[in-house]
Amino acid sequence: MKTEKIKTDLLIIGGGAAGCYAALTAAENSELNILICEKAHIKRSGCLAAGVNALNAYITEGRTPQDYVDYAKKDADGIVRDDLLITMSERLNKVTERLEELGLVILKDENGKYAARGNRNIKINGENIKPILAAAVEKLPNVTVLNRVNVTDISVSDNRIKGAFAIGIENDTFYSIEANVVIIATGGAAGLYKPNNPGASRHKMWYPPFNTGAGYAMGIRHGAEMTTFEMRFIALRCKDTIAPTGTLAQGAGAKQINSQGEIYETKYGLTTSERVYGTVMENLEGRGPCYLKTEGISPETEDSLLKAYLNMAPSQTLKWVESGRKISEQNVEIEGTEPYIVGGHTASGYWVDTNRATTIKGLYAAGDVSGGCPQKYVTGALAEGEIAALAAVRFISENAPANIGEAEINSHIAEIERFTGEDNSFYSTEQLEEAMQTVMDSYAGGIKTNYRFNASQLDIADRRITELEVLSEKLHADDFQELMYIYELRERLTVCRSVIAHLRARHETR
Ligand SMILES: Cc1cc2nc3c(=O)[nH]c(=O)nc-3n(C[C@H](O)[C@H](O)[C@H](O)COP(=O)(O)OP(=O)(O)OC[C@H]3O[C@@H](n4cnc5c(N)ncnc54)[C@H](O)[C@@H]3O)c2cc1C
Repeated sequence: MKTEKIKTDLLIIGGGAAGCYAALTAAENSELNILICEKAHIKRSGCLAAGVNALNAYITEGRTPQDYVDYAKKDADGIVRDDLLITMSERLNKVTERLEELGLVILKDENGKYAARGNRNIKINGENIKPILAAAVEKLPNVTVLNRVNVTDISVSDNRIKGAFAIGIENDTFYSIEANVVIIATGGAAGLYKPNNPGASRHKMWYPPFNTGAGYAMGIRHGAEMTTFEMRFIALRCKDTIAPTGTLAQGAGAKQINSQGEIYETKYGLTTSERVYGTVMENLEGRGPCYLKTEGISPETEDSLLKAYLNMAPSQTLKWVESGRKISEQNVEIEGTEPYIVGGHTASGYWVDTNRATTIKGLYAAGDVSGGCPQKYVTGALAEGEIAALAAVRFISENAPANIGEAEINSHIAEIERFTGEDNSFYSTEQLEEAMQTVMDSYAGGIKTNYRFNASQLDIADRRITELEVLSEKLHADDFQELMYIYELRERLTVCRSVIAHLRARHETR
């Protein structure tokens, strides 16, 4: 293992949507040295890796930012922060225009205006959205990008950020990075619960399986306040392929029906959570499986669906083709996913103020890692990246940097040496990961229990996850790729315990 010490003004952890946009903003508004650490490669990492087909958060003609706040608040049954939602909503259209300037193709209607899908969405050709953002960042002279560098911890003393520690997965390097200010943009957490598909298919999930909740875990370990982890995101998806259902429901007008052919969506409601809840209830009451009704749709709609899914979830198109039956001859079976923790859809994440400052001085949070502000999606993540970057630039002008001490560096090196040293482990990292997912599934409201849980089950879950934390101390890695898997497991375990604690703390249900 090599060790390297780096000093920078602004460190951005995670080069996804929010991280890239934060770098762009900070570079254009300062002369600071900026460093992005990204565990994958910024060209194709995080939620945008495979592309997206719409910008879900946009203020369409005749609407106002306050309308967006009202919508998000209603959808979340009031569990939101209005101040965060409004500061985000006010920037949605500006960041959209910037994306277009950078090269994103936004579809236009016959009047040359952005083609809207409903009240808040606009259509894009978004397969290359991430390469576009990455190219813009790579052109900036004062921004350095370290790809395949996984941040494992932040350095904090007296509640003041000092930098972070990271491992270079391909160059076997331990990095100690001093930074005056840090923006965390590591996305949300997938893989806490047992996913829909088993074994080798387990990564066929909606949320990126490599967004493992690292940012949450780092903050939790150092006492940052988190919010609303009990508001988990459970997506309604096409069975097996886990392909999105919005294009069928909103795009093609397909209704949710049960096995008796009854439309049940009107009975339970149409908000994101009501659509899942209704499906769970119909199954529980013996009227499953549930479907989106595509039987009888027109050949034109059928054709556009085949194309739309080829763009965004090809396995669904393949499933239709492979079945030998037309979409108009069969309904699409639907199911809920395992629960994710993701602040861009629900409200879970760091507690932040309107500058996206966390409760640790000098640490800012943007995008899915940041809480209180659901339904932010791509453009909301960019907006938060912009807000955090502008605040970070101001912070640096007013605060001197703090140094990381040798003792702290040495203890992180010692931890790595323990994991990569003699192999004393009875278990593999994958075995403990499976055990964690089984515990969360059975006792903390996973798919197995129809997302239900009670206090006694949560007690068991917490006890078992704590046991797994102890076992994870003894894991062994043969190389730095395996070392990253150990850190990923350990951060998921930390997040699991917070999820359990938040679930336990909220006593009423909606
Ligand atoms: C499949 C899918 C489809 C979507 N479709 C749409 C859509 O059509 N329209 C829309 O508006 N929104 C869509 N969204 C939502 C939107 O893409 C996200 O809300 C947004 O991209 C989140 O941005 P982020 O920067 O917070 O996270 P990300 O873009 O995921 O960035 C997080 C980054 O952090 C990196 N990282 C994580 N941990 C570490 C670590 N320890 N060290 C270093 N780096 C780390 C990751 O590799 C990643 O690059 C979709 C999301 C998903 C998952």
